[in-house]
Amino acid sequence: MIRITKIETVHVSHLLMLRVHTDAGIIGHGETYYAPAAVAALLHDWMSEKLLGANALDIEKHWRFFYQRFMNFGGRGAEMRAISALDLALWDILAQSCQQPVWQLLGGCTQSILPAYNSAGGTSYGMPASAGGERLSQQLFWPGHGSAGFNGPLEDNWASVYRPAEYAAELVKEGYTAMKMWALDPLAHRPGGTLHLGWKELRAALDPLFRVREKVGYDIEIMLDGHGFFQWPAAMRIAEVMRDIKPLWMEDVLRTDNMDTLKRFRDEAGVPIAVSEMLTVRDDYRQVLETGGADYIMIDPTWAGGISETRRITEMAIPYNIPVTMHDCTGPLTLLAGVHVGIANHNVVYQESVRAHLRVAYKKLIDTDIEVMKGGIAAPLRPGIGAAWLPELFSETDPTYRASVWPS
Ligand SMILES: [Mg+2]
Repeated sequence: MIRITKIETVHVSHLLMLRVHTDAGIIGHGETYYAPAAVAALLHDWMSEKLLGANALDIEKHWRFFYQRFMNFGGRGAEMRAISALDLALWDILAQSCQQPVWQLLGGCTQSILPAYNSAGGTSYGMPASAGGERLSQQLFWPGHGSAGFNGPLEDNWASVYRPAEYAAELVKEGYTAMKMWALDPLAHRPGGTLHLGWKELRAALDPLFRVREKVGYDIEIMLDGHGFFQWPAAMRIAEVMRDIKPLWMEDVLRTDNMDTLKRFRDEAGVPIAVSEMLTVRDDYRQVLETGGADYIMIDPTWAGGISETRRITEMAIPYNIPVTMHDCTGPLTLLAGVHVGIANHNVVYQESVRAHLRVAYKKLIDTDIEVMKGGIAAPLRPGIGAAWLPELFSETDPTYRASVWPS
């Protein structure tokens, strides 16, 4: 038995960072993203009463207990994110106690390098160009709702719009085999832009994708993320133009509210469809698999129930012959959680990553470097989840710092 003795949280922008201390001296690390104060409230004001003094190694027991209580009043959202953050920390504790990386405990290595694609984030990712503030908080803000940012090193969102050919060539040279672009966001934010797209403006918005094809041909796969902005008529026009691109997948052009609509869209779009980190409970994934609404399913491990549930959803997709891809535009432990499940499960085709995050933001958060080499991320060898939060982030003087201690 390894007893939980303290739960600590702190947050930067929307990123909730969690540490779970134990009487064995092992510290487990977890994370989730969005509304971090709400997640911290769940962890400290409610979940800590059950967790403090309990066995940290009873991962499934804790998961089921909180899931069943949370589902009594809806269960999604902040509640599922709190379970997710806790689940990562408990897997980290178990794996450290066994002196093994998490993927080893999930069944071992099915692929020693998990392919990773570059998503078009940047150091200004998601923030309006006019926004000021400290650089780190800029990197971790509203996804898909900002401008393309500004020109500069690793400003891949800007580069994907204004110098897409050179950007794609750079990625190919670095060994990337796939890239995701967010070319439609500016159209969606214009009045009426989610309802109707004129052919001329749509072709212009997607022109960077054509320029990538002209420059590097099929040396790189292209994905398009619509961030769930569009209604059916606009989505059908997007699909028609995208057929010439031959994307690996088109993602969240429609919102994921209705499984029958997703099924119709997959049938009529004429390009492969990915659905979606916006689904956050297992039965939503079952429904999209059952109705045939997706060619790929995408999971965010810290929105959908942590390593435990991500593994279960990944395994559920296997009998449908549908590959899984892991989402991360948010934080380093989300990425590592996806990597561990992907290393241990052959059905994971790609891990999402953002160069600017790996090379700038994440270095300010964790005590190790995560690298994409030869188009993928190697199986982490360090015992546990593979990284620890930098201790200075958990300053008791930080206004967001909270701790629950046993015995209280
Ligand atoms: Mg997405």
